[in-house]
Formats: sequence, C-alpha cells, structure tokens
Amino acid sequence: MEFYAPESVRCMYVHWPFCPYKCHFCPFVALASHDQFMGQYHRALLSEIEQYASRSTSETAARTPLETIYFGGGTPSTYPNELLQETITTVRRLFGIANGAEITLEVNPGTVMPGQLAFWKSLGITRLSIGVQSLNDKVLKGLNRHQSARDVLPLLTQASEFFESLSVDLIVGLPGVDADEWRSMIHQIVQWPIQHISVYFLTVHEDTPLYFKVKKQEVTLTPDDDLVDLYTWTRHILVEHGFEQYEISNFAKPGHQSRHNKVYWQRKPYKAFGLGACSFDGTIRTQNEKNLMRYLQAAEKKGSVQASWETLTRQQIHLEKVMLGLRQSTGVICKDILDGLTADEHRQITDRIASLMHAGLIKDVDGYLILTSEGISVENGIASHLSL
Ligand code: SF4
Repeated sequence: MEFYAPESVRCMYVHWPFCPYKCHFCPFVALASHDQFMGQYHRALLSEIEQYASRSTSETAARTPLETIYFGGGTPSTYPNELLQETITTVRRLFGIANGAEITLEVNPGTVMPGQLAFWKSLGITRLSIGVQSLNDKVLKGLNRHQSARDVLPLLTQASEFFESLSVDLIVGLPGVDADEWRSMIHQIVQWPIQHISVYFLTVHEDTPLYFKVKKQEVTLTPDDDLVDLYTWTRHILVEHGFEQYEISNFAKPGHQSRHNKVYWQRKPYKAFGLGACSFDGTIRTQNEKNLMRYLQAAEKKGSVQASWETLTRQQIHLEKVMLGLRQSTGVICKDILDGLTADEHRQITDRIASLMHAGLIKDVDGYLILTSEGISVENGIASHLSL
C-alpha cells in the first residue's frame, strides 16, 4: 500500500541520517562514519521526492504549498550547503512553500561552519532546533556525544542574529548529571536568546549501548520519583521565565510553538522522505526502508523505498487520540474520544474519566479533557487507563 497523497498534506519531514558520532542513547535512524554516502543519499532523496510529486493524485495535491518543513536526523547541520540548497529548491519547485512557512533545521553544536547560519537563512530556513542535551561535556563524552558546552552559547548568540525562533533540546535524567547541576543548567538556559525549549526524559532504548551499560550495571539511572520532582521544578521555572508549556515536553514563548510538531500531535497528515522516515495520511502509517544500501538501491531504480505500512485499528486510533491529546495543554475533546464507541465501551470510558477527575488527575474545561498539574507526571498511566 503506497502512501496516498491527500490534498491536505501541507507538512513535510526530510530525514538526514548522517552524524559525526553515534550517541549511546540514540534510538534514531542515524549513521556515523558514513559521510562518503552523503552525495548518493542526497540524490536518492531527491529522486524519492520527485517520484512522490509525479505520483500525486491530482494537480492540486502536488501544488498545495507546504506550511511546514522539518529537516531532522541524524544531524542535518552536516547537510552540505549546495546539496541542502538543491533540496529546498526542488521542494519549492514541485510543491511550493507557503508565505510564512515554518522551516526547521536540526543543528548539533560543533557542526556549524562559518557563514552557514547566514546561508541557512538565505535558503528560507526560519527556525533552528539545537541539540544541547546537557552542558556537562564529560557526561556527554561518556555517552559518545562529542560536543562542548563552550560551543553552545556562542552558537546561540550568533544564530539569534539570523533567526527569530531558536529551540534547544535537553534530556533530563542523563546518568552523571545530578539535581543541582540540572537546576543550575536550567537557570543558565532561561537567560539565553531562545524562544523554545524541549525537555525529554532519558529513555533507555533496547539494543543501544546505553541499554547494555545499564544491564551490566555500569551506569546507574536516576530513580523515577527524583526525575518527576526535577521535571516538575523545571516546568515551574520555565513558566516563571515566560515559556508557556504547550505540550508535556515542550515550552515556548508566545508565538513560537512548533507548528510542525503540532501536526503530529493533532494527527494531521504529513509526508516524510528519507531513510526510515514515517508518513501518515490520516489512516495509514508507512515507513521507509531503514537500511541505507536498500534505500539507495530502491531510490536509484526509481522503485518504492517504502518498507512497511500499517492501517491503524480503532483501538490504536483511540489510544493515539487520548495520548497525544492529553500531552497538549489544550487537551483532548471529550466527544472525540467517545464518538464511535460501543455502548459498553462508552460507559466504561465515561466511568474512568469520572474517576480520574475525582482523583484530581484530569479536568473538564468546556468539553476538553486536560491534565491537571498532578496528572502531568503520570500521563502515560492515565492514557493507558483510558485505552480500549
Ligand atoms: S546526534 Fe542525534 S541523531 Fe545523531 S547519534 Fe546523536 S542522538 Fe542520534
């Protein structure tokens, strides 16, 4: 089943998988020591984009200007200038890019060449998302992430001359970063010239080097209760400094929420290109080939680079609506999650909503179910409690 291109797809993701190192906690489709394939990969990516445009079901679908484009990775700041320019030019020619579109590029500190910020700006990029994670070089190095805290602030200061929207990613719970150090980092970061902060909990993904270190007890993880306390403290400090929490992990100054990520959370369609990239057409999720050689060969032969697809079951759709909806500060429309349920299911979910409200974990605001402060730290449990 190939991805169907609904006319409403106005969001594009482009995956650049190359990284200068492979972090021990990384679950993404990311390749270190493969830079020799950058040119070939770029051509394959363009071929995938061009084939998609030519397959689009109608002239309108192919010509719906894009509202958001997100270059993620991997480390897209290592995308060679002239190649990135060619990709953006191709996308603009084939689909059009709306005036005021949000175009984000993920950047790792230490990978930005002189003059590159101005160049990215000239391409129409509007927003940089900078992978800071921690300011403790030793901890990062221990996780095979070779970046220096000294690079971060100069990069942000220079970038703020070119971009009005700068975001930083942080990871709470990195082994070796204690609560005092985390608090002092947050106090520094809120002074930086940034408009958006994403705070993610460290997740130990199976088969990553970190997973094996934890298994061998070479690394001790912060207990969950301590993490929840740190997260709650962080929320308060960020809000005090003018960052509104609009999603469990995301905080933004007014006008700087990520429009692209909101498309994912609102379950709107998006089309993704590149190695391992996942697309969603509103019903079906597809995923591209994750093996570089197979991806390159398929794209070069102008064949399909898609490796799998899945039609979501009604249970999966229900859980996604609840989970993604509750993560957002706007909540989930209660009617939306009750519509289409059998009488039994309806009664069951309504009872559970009532008990969660009684426990003070969610509240009903004009028909929207919203997590309370107490509910935010146990969102996963609440969402699974409301699953079918
Ligand atoms: S830089 Fe990002 S994508 Fe690359 S290995 Fe590290 S975490 Fe993964």
